[in-house]
Amino acid sequence: MKALVAVKRVVDYNVKVRVKADQTGVELANVKMAMNPFCEIAVEEAVRLKEQGVITEIIAVTVGPEAAQEQLRGAMALGADSAILIKSDEEVQPLAVARLLKAVCDQVQPGLIIMGKQAIDGDNNQTGQMLAALAGYAQATFASKLVVADGKAQVTREIDGGLQTIEVNLPAVVTTDLRLNEPRYASLPNIMKAKKKPLTVTTAGDYGVDVTPSIKTLKVAAPKERQAGIKVKTVAELVEKLKNEAKVLG
Ligand code: AMP
Repeated sequence: MKALVAVKRVVDYNVKVRVKADQTGVELANVKMAMNPFCEIAVEEAVRLKEQGVITEIIAVTVGPEAAQEQLRGAMALGADSAILIKSDEEVQPLAVARLLKAVCDQVQPGLIIMGKQAIDGDNNQTGQMLAALAGYAQATFASKLVVADGKAQVTREIDGGLQTIEVNLPAVVTTDLRLNEPRYASLPNIMKAKKKPLTVTTAGDYGVDVTPSIKTLKVAAPKERQAGIKVKTVAELVEKLKNEAKVLG
């Protein structure tokens, strides 16, 4: 059984993002980029399933610029067997990404599609759900445990105030939550090997998918700067300030 893993190139989570002066988005020039952390978890889970003998082949796919090959090579260094870059220099929104992934599924026929629950740039949390609907596959979102056997996947999901375990028929879309696993680091020999693995470059046009945006961002604003705190010398001073300045004590 093949697994398709969707990975997105995003601003590295350690970078303190800055909003552009014209408020149309965040500054991307000369900013460190990386694989979306939830997608790293997706790749790790696929690799573990391959190590268990459940999956025979892992295909990583991304929709993004030429530079996103870096993240695909990263996925292959972690254990993906091959990769597909659907090249686009423009922003491709979740519905269009889902349509493209559906087209890849039609070609590859994976038994399992593993994706991040959200990309940390747009925080959309949409693509996996949309793909499942378009492809007519079952979906199991926010997975914190995944067991695959006998044509089914048992998925434990992180839900408000607890955990829910469901069983879905394959093929299914599973989206990863933070506690699913801890991704490994790629070893140097595996990074070298990944350079020789097959990477196919395509475009949205090859799949006949229109990627014209349907959503327009009107404005992006940075959160308000927090005021600097002060140190108080005594408990009495603290109580006095809470009463008379913050007015949170009666
Ligand atoms: P989102 O719906 O944008 O929050 O993204 C959820 C997940 O969908 C990500 O973690 C990826 O697995 C996948 N995804 C979103 N955008 C892309 C993209 N451009 N290329 C590949 N996968 C993507």
